Amino acid sequence: MSLLSSILYPSELKRDKSVLILGLGITGRAACAFFERHEIPVIKFDDLQTGCISSSKDIPWSEVSFVVQSPGINSTHEVVIDAKNRGIVIVSDVDIFVQSAANAFFIGITGTNGKSTTTALIGHVLKQHFQNVFIGGNIGEPALNLPIILESNVNVASKMQPLTPIYVLELSSFQLELSKTLALDIAVLTNMTGDHIDRHGSIENYVQSKKKIFDKAKLSILCIDDVQSQKIFDELKERQKTYSVSMTHDADFILNDDRVLTMKDGSRIDISHPRLVGSHNAQNIALAYSVCNHLGIQPSSFQQDILSFTGLPHRIEVIQEHNGIVFVNDSKATNADSTIRALCSFKNLPIFLIAGGKPKIDGILPAVPYMQNVKEVFLIGSASDRFARELGQVKHTFCHDLGNAISKAIDAATALSCTLQKVILLSPACASYDQFKNYEERGDVFRLIVNQVLKHE
Ligand code: ADP
Repeated sequence: MSLLSSILYPSELKRDKSVLILGLGITGRAACAFFERHEIPVIKFDDLQTGCISSSKDIPWSEVSFVVQSPGINSTHEVVIDAKNRGIVIVSDVDIFVQSAANAFFIGITGTNGKSTTTALIGHVLKQHFQNVFIGGNIGEPALNLPIILESNVNVASKMQPLTPIYVLELSSFQLELSKTLALDIAVLTNMTGDHIDRHGSIENYVQSKKKIFDKAKLSILCIDDVQSQKIFDELKERQKTYSVSMTHDADFILNDDRVLTMKDGSRIDISHPRLVGSHNAQNIALAYSVCNHLGIQPSSFQQDILSFTGLPHRIEVIQEHNGIVFVNDSKATNADSTIRALCSFKNLPIFLIAGGKPKIDGILPAVPYMQNVKEVFLIGSASDRFARELGQVKHTFCHDLGNAISKAIDAATALSCTLQKVILLSPACASYDQFKNYEERGDVFRLIVNQVLKHE
């Protein structure tokens, strides 16, 4: 039987018709390859790429069975509007994937921050206990590139066998916004603060998108330490199975001193980790524990398993320590909230902060109260003037580019006489697109320059 004959859109999936792939970024290309593997013709649309249709009026609409919209495409795009007007169904890659791998166990993770770390951590632990664990979605491989294991021995009634395929999917608000049928075994929310409001239009729309992760979830796990997440938890607990994780409230998993996790039955587990520093990472580890423990992983095993997790690049990544200066790459901090987490992770040490880029709606203002031990901020990119105003009394210097900022930060850190370690922290509170392709490139350039500079010292 064809894999796709069981897919959710049987009426839309007519083999004499084509699937319109809207957007040919990483997700769209994976969708094309997926349908081509299943001998279903595709029509490719992209505004910018060559070899594709790039105007809605050139689409042979009568040949289109349904549209796969890439998460990077705005819902106000002319093709989305045209498809809706014609009554053509628009679907997300994640919905198609989840329907296609029907026997598997699905864990979805969303939130404003901490999605990738929590996803990678859960995947890392589960891989040590199950043979077919795959990590993807908004992290690494798009879902439709992941192998689909149609394991004949998998007994759906007793799902968690060593061979059960387990997919750990990071889901962005854009992917969730497009989702209509997503049914997860476990849905996880790390936190919910304002981000991507420019694209979603309002915080309400953003919250609505994120909440879709819970729509058909069998178990929902939320860290309830912000107002929005607490509100969602209160709504959900009335109607579905939920676990809460918190460092500030009574919860199913209570986190103390960023280290000790106490369960409802009074049992405790030490979840400290040498590389995952800060309260935010303790929250991520606590969430990962609540998921893994639900799948039968014992506390002592979890403690061992996480030790081999080295953390993800660009997230409070310690690059080097040299002459008492620690160089930290937190390029992934694309909003003020993430920068706050990084500042709090080094709260007892003098910090030389490199910030700026393409600013988000909040700018850097929310992070300013956390800058007591920031000795100087080195500003880069198009946010510089705005950040200079928002920083007020916090000492700051215009550097324009990253190379200049690193060299000025090294001079300033070296000049500070102090017995403590000093931290040069790239945590920009901004998107990178004004000067770099993405945050990865920004972090890689930071790492490269730091390593080069230190080699010549
Ligand atoms: P995401 O995939 O949601 O962007 P990451 O795990 O890649 O999350 O982390 C992105 C940034 O957010 C990092 O700079 C990190 O310092 C910060 N961060 C990570 N986990 C959390 C959390 N639980 N709460 C707040 N900030 C976090």
